[in-house]
Amino acid sequence: MGFPWDAYKPVHAREMIKAALVDMDGTLYDSMPFHSKAWHRLMNEIGIEAPEDEFYLDEGMTGAATVNKLAMKAWNKCFSKEECDALYARKAAYFRELGAPGLMPGADRVIAGLMRRGIVCVLVTGSGQNSLLCRLDSDFPDAFPQCRRVTARDVSNGKPHPEPFLRGAALAGVRPEECIAIDNAPLGVESASRAGTVAIGVCTGPIPAYVLEKAGASIVYGSMDELADGLDVLLDSLTML
Ligand code: CA
Repeated sequence: MGFPWDAYKPVHAREMIKAALVDMDGTLYDSMPFHSKAWHRLMNEIGIEAPEDEFYLDEGMTGAATVNKLAMKAWNKCFSKEECDALYARKAAYFRELGAPGLMPGADRVIAGLMRRGIVCVLVTGSGQNSLLCRLDSDFPDAFPQCRRVTARDVSNGKPHPEPFLRGAALAGVRPEECIAIDNAPLGVESASRAGTVAIGVCTGPIPAYVLEKAGASIVYGSMDELADGLDVLLDSLTML
């Protein structure tokens, strides 16, 4: 028979948020309109019809997964790895042609706020787009060293599979439940939620808040600026007994 005090947890056993697993496109950078345009151009050229907004729903998938999802839908076939690599390289070139996307407003304050509280930041992106990955060190100094990045190249299963965020937690050296995950896309939020992290949704594009909630977000903010303003309150509220 158990005693009532078996359930008691001393204060020193409280769980704290120790790491933040942060998505890149549409979260740190205002890059989704560029990605969407680049995908749309590529798909037009290879004869696959896809409305530009569709890419916001697929956001977070690896490039190969996006190409194959649309090829399956159009022709009921998948491309070989070589074909996928070539198509993704073309899409990446079209993305670069559009110029350098800006930082997402408020992203710098979110990252600074996390670092000020001693929270370890880890990048968790489905992207392999070097033109953005190379900017992280200058745009977010010391936040995302190479050893704390999960990109398309590091996973067998991209978002919405939980693998990317599980790897992110492992790189931070903590358990998933000690992490918040910040992501703007339904597949990213689903991946984070399935991994067992506290999934924070941020509406930075055309996807409405309820879609992120349905995907498993514990809380949804209207922008990165709004998250930056509410970050301390959020982190305090996640400190559980
Ligand atoms: Ca994203």
